[in-house]
Amino acid sequence: MTEAGTSGGGAPQVIDHRGGVWSIAVPIPDNPLGHTLVHLLETDRGPVLIDTGWDDPDSWDTLVAGVDACGFALTELHGVLITHHHPDHHGLSAKVREASGAWIAMHAADTALVLRTREAEPGQWLDFLIAKLATAGAPDDHLAPLRKARAKGGGRSLPGRRAALPDREIGPGELLDVPGRRLRAIWTPGHTPGHVCLHLEEQHPGRVGEATGRGAGAERLAGRPAGFGRLFSGDHLLPGITPHIGLYEDPDSATVTDPPPSSQLRSSRGDPLGDYLESLERIGRLAPAEVLPAHQHAFTGADGRVRELTAHHEERLSGLRALLREPLTPWQLAVSMEWNRPWEQIPYGSRNIAVSEAEAHLRHLVKLGHAELVPGSDPALYRAV
Ligand SMILES: [Zn+2]
Ligand SMILES: [Zn+2]
Repeated sequence: MTEAGTSGGGAPQVIDHRGGVWSIAVPIPDNPLGHTLVHLLETDRGPVLIDTGWDDPDSWDTLVAGVDACGFALTELHGVLITHHHPDHHGLSAKVREASGAWIAMHAADTALVLRTREAEPGQWLDFLIAKLATAGAPDDHLAPLRKARAKGGGRSLPGRRAALPDREIGPGELLDVPGRRLRAIWTPGHTPGHVCLHLEEQHPGRVGEATGRGAGAERLAGRPAGFGRLFSGDHLLPGITPHIGLYEDPDSATVTDPPPSSQLRSSRGDPLGDYLESLERIGRLAPAEVLPAHQHAFTGADGRVRELTAHHEERLSGLRALLREPLTPWQLAVSMEWNRPWEQIPYGSRNIAVSEAEAHLRHLVKLGHAELVPGSDPALYRAV
């Protein structure tokens, strides 16, 4: 790996991962994650981007300068592959397509979310959130600001209302249309219903005559079982943080009775944490030689990281089951759960995310037959069984 530049002095932070793969650190404004690692893959028809970054003028400038630092012009881009619809991954896709004519590809389940967000009536999301939080047992002082915003006609500035509609679909298991490369889509639902990891089924460049090389990756690879290829893991597998797993938020389900567009989507909806754990296991079995995630840094030892995350979730689930000896609402469960800081210090918006995470854990416990909804309870109470 060689660093072609550093952030701060205006030069983009670009890493050459060799073998026609680079990463560009595109900043996410006012976010502790810092940046999205947008990957650039050289192909026979021009470079292809994996994710694009947050829609912000500075992020855009960094992306354009980054593509340049990799030795390409933005206008040469052939396509954009999106790991999932979140704005730190899909935010700049519309601008990239406009500037280059590149196609945009995404899994159908996330495209459905992009479509719904674009078409949602202003306020629909707020109505959904208020109803959902009330059912989860949120106290009135938490709901009051949302009700106030709704009364004022809020909801118009929802991020993602202008997100690009993809031109192509990424099908699970398919070899993607990137001429001259062997890149396979692996459907990894959990963080979002249509999250995909992309497996570059090519020899890791660090393995070719590099036993004594200086590359940190090569040193860590020494003495390990081979592993194969490199995995662009999006938010599914990260070296130092666990991705957020909440319920697949669906404002439509509160108001519309239309069935989801495919049975595949329907089956992925019920138990996001179960989906996530299952997708994790599959990535562990895949055993890529190196993981190139969308945040933090590249790493080896995917199987070990998968085991860590699985153990973390198992521990958490058994802790929650113990808490549910006494019936609790999802809100009460979220308050009792362990977070990275005391509940009192968790900011308002993050509490909504925490409740969604508590709900996802409840959903999984119910599915496993380890917890149940107390019949007739409103707000909803759950207890261990
Ligand atoms: Zn995400
Ligand atoms: Zn992300």
